[in-house]
Amino acid sequence: MTPIVTASRVLVLNSGSSSVKYQLLDMADSSRLAVGLVERIGEQTSRLVHEPLAGPGAAGGKREQTGPIADHEAALKAVAAELAADGLGLDSPELAAVGHRVVHGGTRFTRPTVVDEEVLAEIRNLIPLAPLHNPANVTGIEVARSLRADLPQVAVFDTAFHATVPEYAARYAIDAATAQKYAVRRYGFHGTSHAYVSRAAAALLGKPAADVNVIVLHLGNGASASAVRGGVCVETSMGLTPLEGLVMGTRSGDVDPAVVFHLARVGGLSVDEIDSLLNKKSGLLGLCGDNDMREVLRRAGEGDESARLAFDAYIHRLKKYIGAYTAVLGRVDAVVFTAGVGENAHQVREAAVEGLAELGLALDARANAVRSAEPRLISAEHARVAVAVIPTDEELEIAAQAYALVTR
Ligand code: ADP
Repeated sequence: MTPIVTASRVLVLNSGSSSVKYQLLDMADSSRLAVGLVERIGEQTSRLVHEPLAGPGAAGGKREQTGPIADHEAALKAVAAELAADGLGLDSPELAAVGHRVVHGGTRFTRPTVVDEEVLAEIRNLIPLAPLHNPANVTGIEVARSLRADLPQVAVFDTAFHATVPEYAARYAIDAATAQKYAVRRYGFHGTSHAYVSRAAAALLGKPAADVNVIVLHLGNGASASAVRGGVCVETSMGLTPLEGLVMGTRSGDVDPAVVFHLARVGGLSVDEIDSLLNKKSGLLGLCGDNDMREVLRRAGEGDESARLAFDAYIHRLKKYIGAYTAVLGRVDAVVFTAGVGENAHQVREAAVEGLAELGLALDARANAVRSAEPRLISAEHARVAVAVIPTDEELEIAAQAYALVTR
């Protein structure tokens, strides 16, 4: 008798314009079997780093290859070969699905979706809203499908968790017909992270998600805040694109839209130049020349004035959003820091919460200073609002959503 194989593995793919990040997870116990990335796709110096975490290859540790990888198809084939070498190949009957991170789902996609031709065409139609991201996401889906046609490909959208933001918060106060014609509204991003972290916050407090109001501060290279009431997202800081909101590594976050007209009329900059300025040369980088918070902190610590200004601007914006979202929620049970900066930079957490005792926020300095990969509370015992650090896990969330969809 052939043994019955329960397919419990999900391959998660995050395809960027010149990179593919991947993780193979086993949803039977949420463990990771392999992780890796391919970067600089299309260049002579492409690099694939593969790390098997289970099976016979695990003892050997990370494997790295460099040399030209022409396109996403070649990249995914190389990844498939690495996985196969560890006995974790795409042909395995244990693989249940491929979960794809798709950045923009527009108003059409508000939940994870099994990809068929019609869905793929819709994701393509959304390319004007996410010209930097959706094309690579589409390519990732197409190539994964060509490698194993019978496997469900599930699209998990970065925007989906924010679909519950009420119309009055999602709409910009601009001409309604124009907004409608060009699909201009707040969509929000980092949704898998906000979903995962807000749920984990409720678990950390030992309460059902439905009973908990949370402000999530996802502070990575990109950064966004969300207000989650009883497990439902009611406000988020990113907008039509991931440019709005907090000060980020290289993005400005909120600016007066008239800055754009001014730079065009007076500065003579083209739309593409302004796009690049606000997305790639602004934020911490624009203010002080460094986009990595570690460098900003080091330089500010040495008395560098522009680094200090960048840090202060970053913190000031964060505080404004904490205040605004406290007003949106009315009652806040927890403020949660996550992603690279939120999880690691105790100085950022300390400064962001400082002076907010009136809002019920106060830190336990010792708990805040502890470095850990575990979800943890860092608020002072007497504080009315819990403050927590919760490492995000977007890959696990994508895998869990994809797996739930194909096994229900
Ligand atoms: P991405 O948005 O690319 O997923 P991450 O969430 O991994 O980014 O965050 C990356 C950023 O986290 C880095 O650019 C850096 O600014 C910040 N970071 C990472 N480790 C630390 C640290 N120990 N202290 C301060 N900032 C850190």
